[in-house]
Amino acid sequence: MNNELIEIIEGLKGYLSYLKMLGIKEIPVSQQLAVSSQQSEKSVPHIPNHESQPPTLSLEDIQNEIGDCRRCKLWHTRKNIVVGSGNPKAELIFVGEGPGEDEDIQGLPFVGRAGQKLTEIIEKGMGLKRKDVYICNVVKCRPPGNREPEPDEVSTCKPFLEKQIAAIKPKVIVTLGRPATATLLNNRRITISRIRGIWHEYNLSASVPLLQQEGSTESTIIKLMPTYHPAYLLRNYTPEVRRQVYDDMKKVIKELGVIKK
Ligand code: URA
Repeated sequence: MNNELIEIIEGLKGYLSYLKMLGIKEIPVSQQLAVSSQQSEKSVPHIPNHESQPPTLSLEDIQNEIGDCRRCKLWHTRKNIVVGSGNPKAELIFVGEGPGEDEDIQGLPFVGRAGQKLTEIIEKGMGLKRKDVYICNVVKCRPPGNREPEPDEVSTCKPFLEKQIAAIKPKVIVTLGRPATATLLNNRRITISRIRGIWHEYNLSASVPLLQQEGSTESTIIKLMPTYHPAYLLRNYTPEVRRQVYDDMKKVIKELGVIKK
């Protein structure tokens, strides 16, 4: 058996044991298959998925749900799962793409060189404290060689990011770079240089639908500001790029109503 096939089988096994853990004992088949195997549509069981679970999980619940995750192939090479860090009641969340080497070793997001740049943006640029915001990534395990997370890895891990956002309910999300922005805007064709600095909306209730049924009158639209990834800044620290990120963060600060000292 080739390695690719083994990986697919391992991934499938992990997913099946995850379903089992949720109490799911049957898998639905497409209607076409169901009909051809003489089953009526009604007999196709409803499978609860990430989205149909209550959205009121705490960050701790989410960490427990992630557990010793083996839902995608990234578990083979990771050292630690990097869930996120910071204030669970933060008004501002930064979302990166995935842990790098330092983050994988320490189990914490943005602690390497890109992390130092992010801290500088938060503390010197915005006048906030890093501990007062929340920082996480789209995927919680390091992609080998720091490659971009692949679509199946993003779709497997994205529900946890959505739950983190639902648990924190920030006023503003800053997406760092193209992959994080594309993931939260559900649009893989974006160009970061074109859409950075422009306010977008993240609809919490679309990803966690039960939130609307809680009788809450709270808005489920969260403002989202895309900007460059700090690793891009490390490579292209030109006055122009610096000014662009500074301008983007000024808009965020204004939205949060924080007076920058
Ligand atoms: N780059 C990211 O996108 N996330 C990290 O946590 C570190 C580097």
